[in-house]
Amino acid sequence: MNSIFELFKIGVGPSSSHTVGPMIAAFRFGKECIEKSQVATGADVSIARVEVQLYGSLALTGVGHATDNAIVVGLAGCLPDRTSPEVIQTTVDAARKTGRLLLNGQREIQFDESNDLVWLRNETLPQHPNAIQFKAFRDSGECFLEDQYFSTGGGFVYSREEFDRNFAKSPSAPVVGDSVPYPFRNAKELLQMCRVAHASIESLIQANELTRRSELEIASQLDLLWSVMSNCIDRGCVSSGILPGSLKVPRRAPGIFSKLSRQIGSFELNSSQDMLPSKLLGESKPGALTQSDPLAQLDWVSLFALAVNEENAAGGRVVTAPTNGAAGIIPAVLAYYVYFYPGANRQGIHRFLKTAGAIGLLYKRNASLSAAEMGCQGEVGVACSMAAGGLAACMGGSNEQIENAAEIGMEHNLGLTCDPIAGLVQVPCIERNTMGAAKAINAARLAVLYGDGHHFVSLDRVIETMRQTGVDMQLKYKETSLGGLAVNFVDC
Ligand code: SF4
Repeated sequence: MNSIFELFKIGVGPSSSHTVGPMIAAFRFGKECIEKSQVATGADVSIARVEVQLYGSLALTGVGHATDNAIVVGLAGCLPDRTSPEVIQTTVDAARKTGRLLLNGQREIQFDESNDLVWLRNETLPQHPNAIQFKAFRDSGECFLEDQYFSTGGGFVYSREEFDRNFAKSPSAPVVGDSVPYPFRNAKELLQMCRVAHASIESLIQANELTRRSELEIASQLDLLWSVMSNCIDRGCVSSGILPGSLKVPRRAPGIFSKLSRQIGSFELNSSQDMLPSKLLGESKPGALTQSDPLAQLDWVSLFALAVNEENAAGGRVVTAPTNGAAGIIPAVLAYYVYFYPGANRQGIHRFLKTAGAIGLLYKRNASLSAAEMGCQGEVGVACSMAAGGLAACMGGSNEQIENAAEIGMEHNLGLTCDPIAGLVQVPCIERNTMGAAKAINAARLAVLYGDGHHFVSLDRVIETMRQTGVDMQLKYKETSLGGLAVNFVDC
C-alpha cells in the first residue's frame, strides 16, 4: 500500500470488509466479464448468469453486514464511493423484484439470489477468511470466467493473482512503496527518518504523497475526508428511528444531541439548519459548553461517535477509517479537536489525518485491519491508536510522543474480540466507538501533557502483539458471531 488515501476511503455502511470490499470485488468481476467477452469474440457474447460463493466470515455474518446487497450492486456496476445509499437500495430492490440485473451497467443477466448467491458457512479458503468465488456462465451453461477475491479489511480487495503476489511479499517490503522519498517499514524506521530529516511525521507523509498528487490535490482530498466525516456526524445527530435488522435497535444520537444542545441555551438558533453540530459548535466558544459540567465535552465526543456509527449501521455514507465498524472513532476525536481545541484550524485537520494515516499504514503493513483475522482489536483498536496519534500531533506532541500516544491507544485494546450480535454492526459496535474515542483522547493527553516520549512498549511491539493475539484468537471471536456477546445476549 502506498498512500494514506487508500486507507481513508469514502464508502457506505455497514462494513468495510463485508460491504465495501465485496462491492468492489463484484464490480471488478462484472467489469472483467464485459471486457473479456468483447475481447474473446470481437462482439457481444451472451453471459447468461453469474454465480457467487461466499466463504467463512463473509458467509457467517454477511446477511447482517449487507454483503448480499453489496454483491448485487457491485455486479450492477456500482462502486461504494460513487454510488449514493439511495441508488444502492433502488438497484437492490429492482434486482430482487425482477431476478435480473445489468452486469456492469451494460448487459442484462439473470441473478436469482436464492440460486446464484451461495452462503458457504462451514467452508473457508486457505488464503483468507473473507473469500468470494465468482463464476460467469454462458447460455450454454459453460463457465466463461471465474476468479476468487479476498476482502482483507478496511475495504481492501485482492484478486487471487494479486493476493498471491502481495502476500508472498518479502518481509523487508516497505509500508509505502520504494518510489517515495521515505519508504518506512515500521514505526522505528519512521521515527528514524523523521530524526534524520528533522521533520514531523506529517511532513514525511506529505513528501511521500507529493510523489503521486499535487499539494492542492492532497489538501482537497483531506478537506473532502473531513467534510464527509462532519456531514456524517450532522446527519447522524438528526436522524431518528430504528436501525435496520432483526435487533430493532433505536438510534440514540438525536436524543443525546437534543439534550446536549439545550445546555447551550445562550445561542441563537435561527432555523433548523442551525440545529446541526457543525453549525452549533462551529460558532460556540469551547468554554461555554463546559460551564455546567466539566465532562460535557466527553459527552459530545460520545455523541459524535454514536452519530457516525448509527449512520454506518443504516448503510449511510461514511469514511472508512480504517474500517466501517470503527468509522466513528477518528471523526469523533477529530471533531473534538475542531470544536473544542483552542486554535484548531484547517492545517491542524490535515495534520491529524496525515499523522493518523501514517499510523494506520503501519498496522496494515505489519498486522491486519481485518476483524476476521484480528478480532475487534484490528478495527476499534487500530482506529483508537490512529486517532490518539493524530490528536497528539495536533496538541503539539513530538514524533516520539505521537508514537507513544498511538502505542497507548492499542495497548489497552489488545485482545478485544469481534462478536457482533445477530451479525449486525450495531451491538456492541456502535457504543464501542464511543469508548475507543475516549481512550484515544486519554492516550494523547497522557503522552503529550504528561510524558516525554519515553515509554516501555514501542508501537512496533504492540502492533506485533496485536498480530500474534489475533492469530491465537479463537475463530468464534473473529467476525463470525459464533461466540461472545453474539451468543450470550439473551437473558434466559
Ligand atoms: S465487534 Fe468490532 S470488529 Fe466486530 S463488527 Fe463490531 S466494530 Fe467491527
